[in-house]
Amino acid sequence: MNDNHEDIGKEGGSLDFIRTIIEEDIRSSKNNGRVHTRFPPEPNGYLHIGHAKSICLNFGLAQQYDGLCNLRFDDTNPTKEEQEYIDSIKRDVRWLGFDWENREYYASDYFEQLYEFAVKLIKKGQAFVCDLTADEIRETRGTLTEPGRESSFRDRPLEENLDLFERMRQGKFPDGTRTLRAKINMASGNLNLRDPVLYRILHAAHPRTGDAWCIYPMYDWAHGQSDSIEGITHSICTLEFEDHRPLYDWFIRELEIFPSRQIEFARLNLNYTVLSKRRLLQLVNEGFVRGWDDPRMPSISGIRRRGYTPESIRDFCDRIGVAKRDSTVDIALLEHCLREDLNQRAQRVMTVLHPLKVVITDYPTDKMEMLDAINNPEDEGMGTRQVPFSREIYIERSDFMEDPPKKFFRLAPGREVRLKHAYYITCDEVIKDEATGEVTELRCTYDPKTRGGWSQDGRRVMGTLHWVSAAHALDSEVRLYDHLFTKENPLDQAEGDFKDYINPDSMEILSGCKAEPSLAEAKPGDRFQFLRLGYFCVDPDTTKAKPVFNRTVTLRDTWAKIAKKLQQK
Ligand code: ATP
Ligand code: MG
Repeated sequence: MNDNHEDIGKEGGSLDFIRTIIEEDIRSSKNNGRVHTRFPPEPNGYLHIGHAKSICLNFGLAQQYDGLCNLRFDDTNPTKEEQEYIDSIKRDVRWLGFDWENREYYASDYFEQLYEFAVKLIKKGQAFVCDLTADEIRETRGTLTEPGRESSFRDRPLEENLDLFERMRQGKFPDGTRTLRAKINMASGNLNLRDPVLYRILHAAHPRTGDAWCIYPMYDWAHGQSDSIEGITHSICTLEFEDHRPLYDWFIRELEIFPSRQIEFARLNLNYTVLSKRRLLQLVNEGFVRGWDDPRMPSISGIRRRGYTPESIRDFCDRIGVAKRDSTVDIALLEHCLREDLNQRAQRVMTVLHPLKVVITDYPTDKMEMLDAINNPEDEGMGTRQVPFSREIYIERSDFMEDPPKKFFRLAPGREVRLKHAYYITCDEVIKDEATGEVTELRCTYDPKTRGGWSQDGRRVMGTLHWVSAAHALDSEVRLYDHLFTKENPLDQAEGDFKDYINPDSMEILSGCKAEPSLAEAKPGDRFQFLRLGYFCVDPDTTKAKPVFNRTVTLRDTWAKIAKKLQQK
């Protein structure tokens, strides 16, 4: 599963291979010691946690080496790209804590320059207009073991190429009838060098350039040149572009433009989810989730709504580091980083998810007292608040057993437990529904000498329960989440589609929850630790009448256990 465990254990101190390259470049005064990176998303979907790795890396390097990082939209495909995605990408990068200042660029801003570059190649005899169809180009491309076949249009006279290319731009030809191709080498062992297509005809409006263009540059033609135009010194991308580097270097040489250096690193893979905009879009469009920001989604907007903090994601990206080898990271590590962060900063509150009523028979009927509750034992500065206590309260259904097994340390008939911040109570009587036998209420008595939850005689109890005063409780909805997929790698199954492995129980909605009254003031995005239950975040669906909380993560840290085992090895 997780071949990264070892690497993570060894993190820290030593430089990763990208920083080694950069420091070497700085030492040798390459580019006058300048470090300039960019984050280049294609606006065809929302960003996911894999992009966060690239964002933290690119912006992080710029910060570390006193350089700059651009935000550049690779908007070369007008049919799949939308303003909604551009807006969401900007929101997400900002939320992660990074700033591109005024350097917001678009590959489409370079369309004219790219066109001139293409004319330059044609004039050098290194590009030609080809009349083969897309299918024919594919068929003549050859394979890894066989060379491709040269197009019969390859030796078109230069003037004819210039004329046809100009007329392509003027909209004289229908979609798909012609392309502009580089003239490199159809026998190259690298398929990317087999006369790649640079331009295709596409009569489609572009979100930014409108109807100005009906030919659009291919990604490979636009990407590297955009880096050069912006003077990007270190162009960092994922491993699948390693084979494209010789092509980009060929363009740089032939066009005599700024030599950005491409460096490839292994993309982030996480278990129990998929990290691909195309696949995430399918989940959204086919209704498997409630939208791009569904808290089960690995999209940045999804994990934000779930309650993740930007700090925890940056910490995660630091810890996984960068490598040259593909691997899958355990989602438990991401959750571990989140718990570490929330443990420090989340206010503790009490909420009962599955309420069971408890009547404290010897507590006065009309009495109510406010008890002090500490907000965060990890941070005294967060102070205390007051929680109301009264004769009728709710406890968690699972905190009571009529006939408990040996290791059950919570409430049972005749047993005494502590109510957090309140009193010791003892269970005297169990009330049941006569028809079903279900426990509907407990009758308890309390010890007034244990106010605050501490006994004066040093008498100990095994369990401490969270609770909420019935008369003061806020009726709320709590949404519990589990992995989106049932398989560690939903893409790696022998048969079927990744969507066959969607976890049918990935969301459970509890509507009868009882929250402590202080939560009435909570706003969407606020995060809390519900004592004994986990970390929760207020959902945007929340209303005054019915607060809605997302469970961000439970309290049990499986990563800490894994890490401990590894240390012992
Ligand atoms: P997807 O397959 O999800 O659409 P992509 O690579 O096509 O991803 P882009 O918008 O082209 O998406 O990516 C922008 C940047 O983010 C690129 O530099 C890309 O290398 C990087 N990136 C994308 N996915 C990951 C990932 N899983 N891990 C690290 N970096 C990633
Ligand atoms: Mg892509």
